[in-house]
Amino acid sequence: MTAGRVKKTSTWRIEIDASRCQGHNRCYAIAQEVFDVDGFGQAQVRADAPYTEAAKTRAILAANNCPEFAISVVETGVFES
Ligand code: SF4
Repeated sequence: MTAGRVKKTSTWRIEIDASRCQGHNRCYAIAQEVFDVDGFGQAQVRADAPYTEAAKTRAILAANNCPEFAISVVETGVFES
């Protein structure tokens, strides 16, 4: 994945490939605390997304339901804000 919006934490991060996102809003419907949709219909990771295990579970559910395979939930040990 090369394009998109990235937010990292110490244990996992969410990546949205903006080149794939078609604005179906399924991710937002499934996990509103994690995803938002901008004025152009592109999904974004909320700046205030809670990086809890519950949020991770919902983010994975959203990734599995994204028809464009635009969402990745990636395990990481790297912190970058
Ligand atoms: S479900 Fe996938 S394609 Fe649809 S808005 Fe979310 S990231 Fe984009």
